[in-house]
Amino acid sequence: MDYKKLSVAALIALGSSMVFAQDAEIATWAGFRKAAVSFTFDDGPQSDVDVALPMFEKYGYKATFNIVTNWANGGGNNGMLNWSGVQKLSAAGHEIASHSDSHPNGKPMPSNEISSSKGTISQKIQQKYGVVTLAYPNCDTPGDAQVLQNYVVGRICNGSWKGGSDIMGKDGPSNWAAVSALMTGNQGTSDFKGNMDKAVQQGGWVAFLTHGFQNKTNGFADYSPTDANGMDGALQYAQQKDKDIWVAPMGYVAMYIKERNASKIEPQDGGSANSMAFELKHSIADNISKYDYPLSIKVKTDWSKVEVTQDGAKLESKVDGGYVYFDAVPNAGKIVVTNANAAPEPESSSSSEVESSSSEFLCDALIPGCGDNPWAIAPEIQDNFHFAVYRSSDNYIVVSGAQGHEITVFNSLGHKLRTTRGLGAEQKVYTGAKGVYIVKVGNKTRKVKL
Ligand SMILES: [Zn+2]
Repeated sequence: MDYKKLSVAALIALGSSMVFAQDAEIATWAGFRKAAVSFTFDDGPQSDVDVALPMFEKYGYKATFNIVTNWANGGGNNGMLNWSGVQKLSAAGHEIASHSDSHPNGKPMPSNEISSSKGTISQKIQQKYGVVTLAYPNCDTPGDAQVLQNYVVGRICNGSWKGGSDIMGKDGPSNWAAVSALMTGNQGTSDFKGNMDKAVQQGGWVAFLTHGFQNKTNGFADYSPTDANGMDGALQYAQQKDKDIWVAPMGYVAMYIKERNASKIEPQDGGSANSMAFELKHSIADNISKYDYPLSIKVKTDWSKVEVTQDGAKLESKVDGGYVYFDAVPNAGKIVVTNANAAPEPESSSSSEVESSSSEFLCDALIPGCGDNPWAIAPEIQDNFHFAVYRSSDNYIVVSGAQGHEITVFNSLGHKLRTTRGLGAEQKVYTGAKGVYIVKVGNKTRKVKL
């Protein structure tokens, strides 16, 4: 909405819901931190799983593992990971990226391997964001243009080697096919903290490049192994400075930068005295990525307690110092910020009719507070997970607290309508005609009325 074009009367009519574009801001780095730090591991040795995996798990951080597909194909008994080892890294949330098929010695990878290595990894490993990073063997590009037709980012080694800089600015490198990484280990830096501090001071991005760990099983990745204690200390330091340092995989930081620079968050019509609506959008179009990595947002608010949803699904949020903070995905639907202390807004007449006849089976008297929300179905209190099934104001069956569980929706005759998997804290699973539905979450069932 362009407020400059609105009449005074229209502005008055908007009342307390008046929201300006400058009231919403996209963070330079996730969580409004001051710098980004990426850890990348080359070649795919056994020590990635033996050492890096538990170390990163301890701090909850994610890294990028650059895999040589031929070595993974033949892995398992030569000190290199096979695909099930790579899958362990992926299952823990790390980025799996390409480091060519054949890793030739002392020369750039063959250019046909730019896409063939990506194809092989895509077949072997399912990743939410796909294969978006290529790290060049021997730090040398096989052809920037072709790399950027296949990947969000191509990685060289130390940026200064190519006339760039080791600490990249907030917009990344001038050439996305030449992202820098500082070599760690006996041939490179052991000064993790100093380089992370520099990135914080400059508001930029630093990446590290590691080949295996000292005295561990490194297979072909035995060039310049890194002291595991040194890296552990680096992660500990990053965590102590969590307010300032965002640790994330290289490809995801690259996506974040590109999305952030291309996205706008703008107020939308459809707010009310107790809600504000926004749209977060970009128009990046290429064949590589949907660029749907979440961006961190803050919105000015006087409300002390808010609820934030995107496309009807609840987002985690935090109110602090006059702003509400949350992460949202570009091009993924309307964002609504609601005053959670306000009385609920009246529902439409058709739903209130349903509401009056609903409480007999929708609300379980055993559940404290259930009467406050007539749509709440008994949250599961016997089991080791707590879930609830209810109807949203826009007539969806919503399941909350079912992460990782199978969710199946049946009609009243017991016909299966949809099976999905619990993903978010709260998700819409079905909408349809008025009637009673049965929702199975794990091995528990609940009834809900639309
Ligand atoms: Zn390598």
